[in-house]
Amino acid sequence: MRHIRSIARPHVVVIGAGWAGCAAAVSAAAAGARVTLLERTDMILGTGLVGGIIKNNGRFTALEELRAMGADLLLGAMESCVLHEGISFPGHKHASLYDVTRIEPTIRELIAAMDIDLRLRSTCIGFTQEAGWVTRAHLQYGEVVEGHAYIDATGTAGPAANCRTHRSGCVMCVLRCPTFGPRISPTRSTGVNEAPAGLTAATSGSVEVLKESLASDIASELQALGHVEIPLPKTVQIDVLPHEKSCQQYSSKAFYDNLVVLHNGAAKVMVSYLPLELLRSIPGLAKAKYIDPYSAGIGNSVRFNLITPHDKALRVIGLNNLFCAGEKVGLVVGHTEAILTGMLAGHNAVRVGLRAELLQLPTSLMCGDFLEYVANDLKENRSLQNKYTFSGSVYFQHAVKQGLYTVDIAAIQTRVKESGLTGIFRSRLVGS
Ligand SMILES: Cc1cc2nc3c(=O)[nH]c(=O)nc-3n(C[C@H](O)[C@H](O)[C@H](O)COP(=O)(O)OP(=O)(O)OC[C@H]3O[C@@H](n4cnc5c(N)ncnc54)[C@H](O)[C@@H]3O)c2cc1C
Repeated sequence: MRHIRSIARPHVVVIGAGWAGCAAAVSAAAAGARVTLLERTDMILGTGLVGGIIKNNGRFTALEELRAMGADLLLGAMESCVLHEGISFPGHKHASLYDVTRIEPTIRELIAAMDIDLRLRSTCIGFTQEAGWVTRAHLQYGEVVEGHAYIDATGTAGPAANCRTHRSGCVMCVLRCPTFGPRISPTRSTGVNEAPAGLTAATSGSVEVLKESLASDIASELQALGHVEIPLPKTVQIDVLPHEKSCQQYSSKAFYDNLVVLHNGAAKVMVSYLPLELLRSIPGLAKAKYIDPYSAGIGNSVRFNLITPHDKALRVIGLNNLFCAGEKVGLVVGHTEAILTGMLAGHNAVRVGLRAELLQLPTSLMCGDFLEYVANDLKENRSLQNKYTFSGSVYFQHAVKQGLYTVDIAAIQTRVKESGLTGIFRSRLVGS
């Protein structure tokens, strides 16, 4: 039986090339696997194409833990695109902002350099499984990809039908479902239930405005400092409630009283959406033009309408060689969070091919504690309204209480060393 034997060089098939899928591909390749990365659009990085905030609050600690664990190649490439470092904005300290205009080709170069077989415009529509093992990934136009282990990193954003059910329909975000077809969760084809009762979707928390469409003094300040806060006139009220937002870390009063704008190559405005005429009534924004979503005057992409049940190694419950990563893991928000889950899933996919014991991260690390906290809270908090991130909301408060949050890099490296995991995500498993 091919599924019982250890494979000399496992072939790992990653579906979805957002931050989670890219991290999974990089860590599986670093461990020595042959890797195929399938992406439905013509660009990698998914929602990471319109984000950019890293290292804010606990994301600093998590990112340095990941670097110490061997994620340095991917993180280094990401950081080579940083425009601003060490900035503070309401409720957030020591943030860096990467340049969304440079990030995609930079990460694509790394993917090519690692010999990862990236297949764009390749939508996976489902899996074949035999006795608890996924044996094939089926693509939209009939092609089949066979691997030894599979990672579903297809995210939760969209598709248009979901945006229509929960809000105003397609608002033309970077996922571009009308062009490339819907996001599809291939895990669903296995019969795994990804729709727990009581789960309600949430709206993405920021929009992008063309920097050149701002008044020149605001554009200059934004470019120089990385952020501006513009007090909102009384006539402009932001009506998205905290629990309706994907990014609960940006739900404090300061984000309702001020327009918080960050410079990520574009002007990243920290509201879910705002009617264009209201946006243009704000001083300095009379000529503002939305560039993502194009219809951000009406709504934003809708996310978090599914949770993939998994164990501590990120293996999907009921399937021996299928892993999940990124937002699918369950109400987990952010690039750093996607990279963490991708790294772990990619590494464990290789281990499954080699029939080695799967890696679980200890709770002495913020990364391990985060996964444990999310799993426990999802079990206990049946309202399913929390979102989880290193940078704020319920998990960051918990991490501070546990003494896990620190910006002392030497202390973080020691913590990783004591857990025996230094360089784990760069260690070659194949042939070892
Ligand atoms: C507007 C916006 C701004 C944000 N800003 C920030 C920020 O500043 N900082 C931060 O940390 N986080 C931010 N986030 C959140 C962050 O981008 C995400 O939580 C994280 O990057 C999710 O990564 P992912 O890989 O799980 O999913 P995604 O980014 O959604 O990637 C999934 C990928 O899978 C592909 N795909 C889907 N279905 C299939 C299929 N069947 N076959 C093949 N491919 C498929 C999609 O096309 C996509 O490329 C932002 C999110 C949004 C929407």
